[in-house]
Amino acid sequence: MSEAERADAAALRLGILARLADAVGLAETLEQVARRGVAVLRQNDADHAAVWLLEVLQPGYGDTAATVLADAPVADPDHVHGLDAHALAIAAVASGRPEAHPLTGHGLVELYAQPVVEPGQTSPSLVLVVGSTQPLSGDAGFTDYLEVAGVLFGAGYGGLRELAQERQQSETLRELDAAKSAFLANVSHELRTPLALIAAPLDDVLQRGDLPTLAGDRLAMVRSQVVRLTRMVDAMLDFSRIEAGRIAPTVVELDVPAILRTIVAAFGPAIERAGLRFDVEIPELPRTAFLDQDMLERIVLNLLSNALKYTPRGSITLSLAPVGDGFEIAVTDTGIGIAVRDQERIFARFEQLPRHSRARSTEGAGIGLAMVKELSELLGGRVDLRSAPARGSTFTIRLPYRAPAVALAAEGVRSVTPRGVAAFLADVESWDLGPAAVAPAPVAAPGDRPLLLVVEDSADLSRYLSEVLSDTYEVMVAADGLQALAMARSRRPDAILSDVMMPGLDGFGLVGEVRADPHLRDLPVLLLSARAGLEASTAGLAQGADDYLVKPFDLSDLRARLASNIRRAADRSADASWRRAIVRSLHEAVVISDTSGLITEFNDAFRRLVGWSMSDGPFSPPYPWWPDPATDPEAFERIEEANRVLLDDGVMEGEFQLRHRSGRTVWASYNASVVELPGRGRAAVLKTLRDVTRDHAARVRRQDAARISAEFTNADSLEQLVGIAVDGLHALFDGDSTVQVAGPGVVQTFTATGPVELDGLPAAIAARLAGTDGTDDSEPGGAVQGILLVPPSTLGGTRAWVQFGEPRAVSADEQIVADMLAGSFALAVDRVLTVGELADKQANLERAIESHRLIGQAVGILVERHRLTPSQAFQSLRRASQDRNIRIRDLAARVLETGLDPDAA
Ligand code: ADP
Repeated sequence: MSEAERADAAALRLGILARLADAVGLAETLEQVARRGVAVLRQNDADHAAVWLLEVLQPGYGDTAATVLADAPVADPDHVHGLDAHALAIAAVASGRPEAHPLTGHGLVELYAQPVVEPGQTSPSLVLVVGSTQPLSGDAGFTDYLEVAGVLFGAGYGGLRELAQERQQSETLRELDAAKSAFLANVSHELRTPLALIAAPLDDVLQRGDLPTLAGDRLAMVRSQVVRLTRMVDAMLDFSRIEAGRIAPTVVELDVPAILRTIVAAFGPAIERAGLRFDVEIPELPRTAFLDQDMLERIVLNLLSNALKYTPRGSITLSLAPVGDGFEIAVTDTGIGIAVRDQERIFARFEQLPRHSRARSTEGAGIGLAMVKELSELLGGRVDLRSAPARGSTFTIRLPYRAPAVALAAEGVRSVTPRGVAAFLADVESWDLGPAAVAPAPVAAPGDRPLLLVVEDSADLSRYLSEVLSDTYEVMVAADGLQALAMARSRRPDAILSDVMMPGLDGFGLVGEVRADPHLRDLPVLLLSARAGLEASTAGLAQGADDYLVKPFDLSDLRARLASNIRRAADRSADASWRRAIVRSLHEAVVISDTSGLITEFNDAFRRLVGWSMSDGPFSPPYPWWPDPATDPEAFERIEEANRVLLDDGVMEGEFQLRHRSGRTVWASYNASVVELPGRGRAAVLKTLRDVTRDHAARVRRQDAARISAEFTNADSLEQLVGIAVDGLHALFDGDSTVQVAGPGVVQTFTATGPVELDGLPAAIAARLAGTDGTDDSEPGGAVQGILLVPPSTLGGTRAWVQFGEPRAVSADEQIVADMLAGSFALAVDRVLTVGELADKQANLERAIESHRLIGQAVGILVERHRLTPSQAFQSLRRASQDRNIRIRDLAARVLETGLDPDAA
């Protein structure tokens, strides 16, 4: 191909592609894309004399993988290459790449297949196949051209498919919408007849005026609710008529300022009663308006009642102003406001923002603002909103003086159903406008009737409930969960009857709070909800409510359920009081916990034992009265293990070390079991404890005394005996011991610091040992300075004195142990001294003195070096002597020699 030919071919291809883009872009159906696209390609018979466009069928569609959509094979009039084109297309789909295939005869020399992938897809949905009269597959200009052609087909197909899908969706939505409107219209229409049949006879009865007061009041309430229901039905009906284009303004001459002033006069008192300021600015307008009065009223009333509903404090302003060739009505409030992201949404029908705790009511169907918008537009105007959360809102209605003319030809087309101010006020009255609107609790002597707390945000319903129930109950009324909680805490009711949907804390939240409060926890709570269905009631009961009733409820059913729940709760609390009283009266310490170990109750005896009170809780294992795991790991593990055994076996007994709050160790004997209740399984763990601290100490002391006494018996030297006595008595009675040994003609005294002369002892102790002390501290149970160990038989003067650190009482048990030890000590001294000759005795005594002198010196060193008391130093010497199996005097000698500690010397 020459340069010039090449340039011509490129120009031709560009031209074809431009036309292809146009044809594909303008096509409105897939079929048009295929047909017109192929027609454009056919114009390039320089490159290809035959063109096929094939659609790829979904796999599984039989064995044909592609079907011909459009073909224009000029050079293949007999379609002999159609099959080849088909086969090549399938090969291109399989490889995902363009494929070429040489031909022989019949004018065409090559087939070239270009797969077409639609935007957003991964596999080809079409294949473009061309047949050329010269081999072109090696020409980059040609393959690029066909690739672009393929992209254009793909874009055309993809775009149309998307469009079709969107159309289908919006069609479905429109149909749904129309169906909903038709349904609403039907339902509302059907509802009006029975409503009218209730309202008319009711009015009739009420107008006679000969009813007893109670019946009159009840029926008046029924009437006001019928009026409200009728208004809701009317609103729905109006709305569906607007949707169906069957509402049009009835245009008459209107005095707009006068209409607004009438509305202000009627609505003002309700606003003021709610504690809000009502500012009004209504000047005369320069021109008379020609509009629809019902529509105008409906718009303004909707906005005013919304302003009142969503404004907890501050003011509401209604203003009128001429603007250009029309006028503006603005309703401004200082209420809860609307976030920018929600401002468009609230004008859509049935759209409500999540319940706001500061709103005066949660009632409403979410059609008020949609109505305002539709009606304003029907009058040729529009609505604007400026609002900020927590600051307030301004809704502005801009209207022309004359509503656009409409043909009122169609049948059934008329204005909105008139709703006067009175109708709106009836709605507003049912909201919580503040103190005046809350039903006062009927006055009745409290005390004899159970106290019922009714929680309901609809003032009508709570007034009704408190009226009808006040024959059986003393009724308190709260408007929401938070108020109810505060009331119940200041005066505990016998039951709570609560609405579920309420501003602030709702019914479920209230149940949760009640169950979490230890003083309210067992109160029966009955929920009252407008949501029917098993799911709703299970949700209520799962939250811990005792019962769940659905509105509308049957009064006698409500009464029966209230009564049975209150009775059950009373039984439960009687059981609980009995249990509490019994537990309290028990002399032994009692602890009750649930199976997780959380303590639910313990009595005074237990409080005395461990020093903790219930109010210091909650208590869960490890309890603070268990031994400290850091300082006493063994004792801690022992009780922890026992607790595990208790849960496994259901019973447990034993004596355990505990820690009093003051840190002192106490011992308790446990008797514990898991209580099982029929139907409720393992219900509680009951432990009774006896304080055995004294028994325990006495037992330990007796064991120690027996051991010391055995050591006395086995000792064969005086030296040994004195060591055992000084140390043993110190440990046993917890004080510094002074031991006096008397043999024939000799009396020697020893302390932990070594042998001492009698006149070297403190005078008081010397007097005790000499038996000349006249102090009478033997008053039973009184605190004394120390304990004297005197053997029963007056065998010489062998005796001992243990001086307490602090004066304390000596138990009878201690005294017995002391007497026994004094006896065995004296006997042992006698035995050692009487064995052998007098000289030996003398030597024996001297050896004892000598060795205790050594010991005393060693003790002195240890006292100085380690800041120990002499007894502690003596003990450490003795322990080391036992551990290392070295005689105590030898060890003392080593300490003196080496200056090392007893363990190392
Ligand atoms: P309804 O009041 O019955 O819920 P509307 O269509 O009148 O329905 O209002 C739609 C929503 O717009 C309301 O649920 C409320 O969340 C919000 N709204 C309307 N008016 C105000 C206002 N003055 N201040 C704050 N929020 C408002």
